[in-house]
Amino acid sequence: MLLLPKFDYEEPKSLPEALAMLSELRGKGRVIAGGTDLIVNMKKGTVKPACLVSLKKVDGLREIVGENGALAIGSHVTVSQIAESDQVASAFPVLARSASGLGSPLIRNRATIGGNIVTARPAADLPPALIALGAQVELRGNGKDRKVPLDGFFTGPGSSVIEPGEVLTEIIVPAAPPFTGGDYIKLGHRAALEIAIVAVASRLTLDKPDGVIVDARIVLSSVAPTAVHAVSAEKALMGQRPSEELFAGAASLAVADCSPITDIRGGAEYRRDMVNTLVKRTLLKAYHDAAGVKGGGA
Ligand SMILES: Cc1cc2nc3c(=O)[nH]c(=O)nc-3n(C[C@H](O)[C@H](O)[C@H](O)COP(=O)(O)OP(=O)(O)OC[C@H]3O[C@@H](n4cnc5c(N)ncnc54)[C@H](O)[C@@H]3O)c2cc1C
Repeated sequence: MLLLPKFDYEEPKSLPEALAMLSELRGKGRVIAGGTDLIVNMKKGTVKPACLVSLKKVDGLREIVGENGALAIGSHVTVSQIAESDQVASAFPVLARSASGLGSPLIRNRATIGGNIVTARPAADLPPALIALGAQVELRGNGKDRKVPLDGFFTGPGSSVIEPGEVLTEIIVPAAPPFTGGDYIKLGHRAALEIAIVAVASRLTLDKPDGVIVDARIVLSSVAPTAVHAVSAEKALMGQRPSEELFAGAASLAVADCSPITDIRGGAEYRRDMVNTLVKRTLLKAYHDAAGVKGGGA
C-alpha cells in the first residue's frame, strides 16, 4: 500500500490569507483543491510538499457567473457542478460535454476545474474544450495578478506558466459569436473512468446559417505533450463553405498537426487514425449546431 508522507495542512478563509501562506512557505507549500491528482502523486512520491494549503474555505471560488453570454467560473467549482449546470449547458455545451466524461461520479464530485487545468496532464478533459472556447485564466499572486489565455498556459506534460505561490482563481469564457457550434469527443477504452486515448474539441463560426466559416478551432488532446491546435486544418476551413468533403480534407490535415506516442493505451498509428475520425465527426456536429440544423446541437 502507498502511504502518504507527513505534511502540514492549512485551511485559509480568504485569498489574501492563502497567498500570504504560500509566499511564506517559499515554494514548499502546495495548493490543494479536490486532491484527486495531488494526493495520488504524493502517495507515488512524485511531489513532496511540506504543507498543503486548501482552497476549500476560501470565499468566492465556487461560483459560476454569467454576463452577456460570457461565463466566469471560479477555480474551485467542481467538475460535477459544470456537468450539471444549465447555464454551462446552454452557453457552452462543449464544456458541459467534456466535464460529464471526466472520471466517475465520485471523482467529478471532488475534482475541480482549477485542479484539472493546473495539473497540466496531456490527457486532461477540460483544457481542450476551454482552449477551443478561447478561455483565459486569472492567476493571483502575492502582489501580482495576471490574466493568461489558456492557449498559452501549458508548457509541457505537468508544466505550465503558473509560478510557485500563484493561485488560479477564475476561468473566463468569452461569449460565443452568433452561428457558432462545437463538439467534444473523448475516446477511451471504457465508457467511464477512463483517461483519453485521443480527444478532440472543435468549434466553428459561420457568417450566417448557410454561409462560410469565419472562425475554426480544432484542439487535439493526448496526441502531443500538451493540447494542441490542428493549425493547418483550421486554416483550410477558414473562408470556406462547409461540406463533408471539406471536413474530410481538414481531418486528414489534422493528422499531420499532431505528434502522438505509442503507450500501453494505444499506438501512435491508431491515435492518428482516431484524430482523423474524431476531427471529421466533431466538425460535422459543430457545423450542424452553428447552422441550427435540426439534430445538431453541440
Ligand atoms: C480515478 C481517477 C480518474 C480520473 N479520471 C480523469 C479523467 O477522465 N479526465 C481527467 O481530465 N482527469 C481525470 N483524473 C484526474 C483528476 O481527477 C483531475 O485532473 C481533477 O480535475 C484535478 O482536480 P483536483 O481539484 O482534484 O486537483 P488537485 O489534485 O487538488 O490539484 C492538482 C494540481 O493542481 C494544483 N492546483 C489545484 N487547484 C489550484 C488552484 N486553484 N491554483 C493553483 N494550483 C492549483 C495543485 O497544487 C496540484 O498540483 C482522474 C483522477 C483519478 C484519481
